[in-house]
Amino acid sequence: MRTVGLLGGMSWQSTQSYYQLINEGVQARLGGLHSAPLLIYSFDFAEIEALQMAGKWAAAGEMLARQAARLEAAGAEAIILATNTMHKLADYITEEVSVPLLHIAEATAEAILASPSRQPLLLATGFTMEQDFYTGPLGAKLAEAGGAVHIPEAPRRKIVHDVIYDELCRGVISEASRTAYQQIMAAEAEEKGCDGVILGCTEIGLLISQNDTALPVFDTTALHCQRAVDFICADHTTR
Ligand code: GLU
Repeated sequence: MRTVGLLGGMSWQSTQSYYQLINEGVQARLGGLHSAPLLIYSFDFAEIEALQMAGKWAAAGEMLARQAARLEAAGAEAIILATNTMHKLADYITEEVSVPLLHIAEATAEAILASPSRQPLLLATGFTMEQDFYTGPLGAKLAEAGGAVHIPEAPRRKIVHDVIYDELCRGVISEASRTAYQQIMAAEAEEKGCDGVILGCTEIGLLISQNDTALPVFDTTALHCQRAVDFICADHTTR
């Protein structure tokens, strides 16, 4: 098996999901007592969030790159960045390490393109919905297949963003917020003809599952973990 280095803590609520899903995936694939060879660096999310809010992205990128290099030096054969938002800074990592970065948006785009969905709605942080580091590459891949990625209207984006930072990243799962997300998904689907929903923040899967919407769900956390499992198991020969 190959070792993956995980940059986590953004927030630790979703890093728990990564740890569980990657291990479950390896166990399902290889059986027995197999589990995933993982190296994890977990940031203090308060520091990361302060840099995000201050727009100090270069400083955050340097922090990611520094810890990615430590994971590589410790034996990581690929890096996985357990947050959509911080993929804004993916280049800082790829310039610093020689092992591959398993990109969350690539795993997501492939899953959508393998499905009938061509007009997915993106639910994510304001940074991910409003800047083009995520919707740009994803939108380009969808456009090649005649599709497009949609983001909610501004007041709805604020609700989605605030629930992530004020609740989900703090471990708060609220029925009222689930209902608010459901209303947003239903309204956007009705108004824009969305035929799928991307849970484009690694904590949203803690709140919303396929049971909460009629739209096909693309959970970036689950898809990213699947990518990690594929990488880990690719060279495994059963003994
Ligand atoms: N985990 C979140 C994401 O996937 C948000 C926290 C962060 O800003 O990293 O975007």
